[in-house]
Amino acid sequence: MAQARRRRSFAVISHPDAGKSTLTEALALHARVIAEAGAVHGKAGRRGVVSDWMEMERARGISITSAALQFAYGDTVVNLLDTPGHADFSEDTYRVLSAVDSAVMLLDAAKGLEPQTLKLFDVCRHRGIPVITFINKWDRPGREALELCDELTQRLDLAPMPLTWPVGEAGRFRGVLDVRDDAFVAFERTVGGATVAEEHRLSAERAAEEVGEDFARAREEVELVTASGGEFDAAAYLRGTATPVLFGAAVLNFGVRHLLDLLVELAPRPEPRVDVEGNPRPLNSEFSAFVFKVQTGMDPAHRDQVAFARVCSGAFERGMVVTNATTKRPFATKYAHQVFGQQRSTVDVAYPGDVIGLVNASALRVGDTLYSGKPAVRFPGLPSFAPAHFAVARPADLSKAKQFRKGVEQLSSEGVVQLLTSDSRGDAAPVFAAVGPMQFEVAAHRMEHEFNSPVKLDRLPYSTVRRLVDPAQRALVDAGRNSEVLTRADGTDLALFVDDMSMRLLLRRHPELRLETLVASG
Ligand code: GDP
Repeated sequence: MAQARRRRSFAVISHPDAGKSTLTEALALHARVIAEAGAVHGKAGRRGVVSDWMEMERARGISITSAALQFAYGDTVVNLLDTPGHADFSEDTYRVLSAVDSAVMLLDAAKGLEPQTLKLFDVCRHRGIPVITFINKWDRPGREALELCDELTQRLDLAPMPLTWPVGEAGRFRGVLDVRDDAFVAFERTVGGATVAEEHRLSAERAAEEVGEDFARAREEVELVTASGGEFDAAAYLRGTATPVLFGAAVLNFGVRHLLDLLVELAPRPEPRVDVEGNPRPLNSEFSAFVFKVQTGMDPAHRDQVAFARVCSGAFERGMVVTNATTKRPFATKYAHQVFGQQRSTVDVAYPGDVIGLVNASALRVGDTLYSGKPAVRFPGLPSFAPAHFAVARPADLSKAKQFRKGVEQLSSEGVVQLLTSDSRGDAAPVFAAVGPMQFEVAAHRMEHEFNSPVKLDRLPYSTVRRLVDPAQRALVDAGRNSEVLTRADGTDLALFVDDMSMRLLLRRHPELRLETLVASG
């Protein structure tokens, strides 16, 4: 399918402040912005787009989240899916990664790998998502390029394959060496990065004359990396064992065109998605999509819900009536998109790799499959990810026990929070688990306003979680003072520890205890 071949759908994984918003703006500057699915409002001017999202998010708290920015770059249609970070880091952030075909790992040159980057990278590796690395902020003092590459090898077991290399150290940046054609690309300061500067390239010979020592050193350093397994190898990138590395400065728009060119050249295009029976659904079969995120309006006056779905096959046309594979009920997309269209450019058609935002989608849940025509298709539901925050939930009003139970079950089935129980805790006070604390806020809000059962949440001090492999060993963990085992609604036994030290102590005492790192399951 020609339309699918043109698509590159990716997400940027990074730690807050590495420059994701800046990079997003810089990418869009090179391109023609087609549409922003999920942007609730926005002005025509491009520079407004991203900051408008952020302003809206700030002003309205957590109710608005952009989902995807679509733009054309040459013949390619690029879909950049947003991975919420900062305060709204949550399970949704991970789920976005089930809707992309590749990722760009954005690092701050002064900081290297940071906690949130590591977590997101783990999910990419687990799901087999290939990663391109962009080392940002090279215009100001930071760490050595070699040291940053070394960190990728040591901490991620990921071979760095530099495609550009900084000439002049961070803070005294002169440009980059384009490794594949051995040319020098001069760094030009554009005013605030607001314009796309013409690239100024010099051949290796000219660069040796004009740039001198810095250029020679860059070539030597690159050789050190390539000689130890960093030779460019597209297959190793696709397998997830190596990562192409680029250096740049998003705020000055330097290195960004390289990144786009690389995405076009290298990043995987949409592939047939495998259904629950194990059959890949051909890209040119009738329309199908899966819902990877549902945004509930937090404003009680507008109980609106927007469902974001990634198209997997066929063409989506506005107004289509599709079937929800979970409920077998029809879902009309017509009204939804007219409303969308008033506020944003209307999405008339969408192809595999694209994201569609469906408003009035109260019938849709995360993990649902949508399709048109026959035969029916259903894709596997989305996995649960390793939670990091835990809280005991109790009904604030004991007379509302029934509503409480109903609400808790519903929120768990929607994946708003994970539900953990154990015999010793009983059903009356289950434990909510979440990737980010915002999930608790959403859950508490919905329990009160939708299920009429306000909840009290008491945080538990656990921070380390593993999967308990053998249920017979449960007592070993429960006996510890700083640990317990709770069973998640999907049947996974989670061993929870107050800290890493408690876990290591228990393992030392009971070397037979089998615990597994948990990234995602299901
Ligand atoms: P996010 O939290 O990852 O979205 O990061 P932002 O895009 O908001 O950037 C965080 C800060 O880093 C802002 O002050 C940016 O201006 C700054 N920043 C982003 N890219 C660069 C860069 O290439 N060089 C420098 N010096 N600063 C940058």
